[in-house]
Amino acid sequence: MIESEQKIITASAAENLDTRNERVVHRFIPMLVAENITRVVEYESGRKIPRVDLWNCVGVRMDKAFSAQQDRYKSRRDFSTSLLIDKYNILKELGIPKEGRDIIRDDDDTTKTWLEKKIGLLFTSGVIYIDSVSVNICNACGYMQSVDSISLNSCTVCGNRRFHSEKRNVLMVDIPKDREALIKDKIIYPKNTKHVRSFFYQLPPRVMISRVREYGLPLDSIGLEGYVLDPKIGVALMPELIVEKYELSELTLAQGAVVATHNIPYTSLLTSGFHHTYLLLPKIPIISLEKAKSIGLGFVARYLPFVIMTYNNDIAPDQLEIIRKEYSRITWKIDTIISSLQSEKEQFVNLTSEDRQILAEITKDFVEYRIRAGQEKLGKFFKAQGRRYAEEMRHKGYYLNPTDIDTLECIVKLFYK
Ligand SMILES: [Zn+2]
Repeated sequence: MIESEQKIITASAAENLDTRNERVVHRFIPMLVAENITRVVEYESGRKIPRVDLWNCVGVRMDKAFSAQQDRYKSRRDFSTSLLIDKYNILKELGIPKEGRDIIRDDDDTTKTWLEKKIGLLFTSGVIYIDSVSVNICNACGYMQSVDSISLNSCTVCGNRRFHSEKRNVLMVDIPKDREALIKDKIIYPKNTKHVRSFFYQLPPRVMISRVREYGLPLDSIGLEGYVLDPKIGVALMPELIVEKYELSELTLAQGAVVATHNIPYTSLLTSGFHHTYLLLPKIPIISLEKAKSIGLGFVARYLPFVIMTYNNDIAPDQLEIIRKEYSRITWKIDTIISSLQSEKEQFVNLTSEDRQILAEITKDFVEYRIRAGQEKLGKFFKAQGRRYAEEMRHKGYYLNPTDIDTLECIVKLFYK
């Protein structure tokens, strides 16, 4: 096993929503966060780290979107594939090419086979079990909404509000009383996890994880004919699939806070043998690809994914504008300093060991998610050291060693460009 592959960061399985009509980039923030941190880790360690993308293609919203435009596709899987092709076209424009990335979808045959085996093991060991339970059935479409004890709103499939109760054999999982254990040492960001904890404390003592739906992982092999696995369980198990495939000891998942909190308990309960940690990201305003291009891809794809991890709450449009202005100021300053340090002349000086030390500290800060500390040091470096160099050297008629210029440019590319 290669040491650098023991620990990777990836985005949690994202719902493969339709971004064809809405060419938006804000939904890709978790992937951009994972990519950016991975780049810094690679820079720091000098080793190549795998890129893995997880896609949740079997959700109810996808089913609805498919039934609305079914005649245009050969199959449900074809529909999902076409959406993914579209997404990778957008990602490519954001500097994430599809090549070299491992794409794992929950509707892939290999994923389905792996999930089926895993469900079989969890069933045999009694972690998940079949029980006869009263469930709420939608009067209009017959969808099995939830177990009886859960208060009802409207049917997920058709929106109808009238239900009746029936006894059915369903697949269940118990949620332990000690809810704290489900997230202990798992949340890297945010620092304040009060709202995540309160979500966990609202979970019922047990949850139904089988569904009656047209698409999904059939549960016939454990004796539940006609049922499929709740897609959220597939999503929660997928991290273990990556861990097995890449022989990891730790996997960090970046995801929107709301979606991730729905998966964490099940990943904690149903997987084992590795440590899983989370970056629960705040929401940012809607940004279309066209808008991203006009405000700058360096800002959207490089700077913003880091900066959001210094905020405690969701980012409002006016805050985004403040962050953008700050970015313009900083990059303008950096560009000016770097160009003033460059020259074709032969006489040059090197970065001092103290400066190299600071640059190493900066990447270390980012690798260890001390984003604010890293950014402050970066800002200071270019303000103080950078300017000092520029002034001193111009005074003496010296220029910075071209190799050191490259180093500075590499650092700038990691965080700003
Ligand atoms: Zn219904």
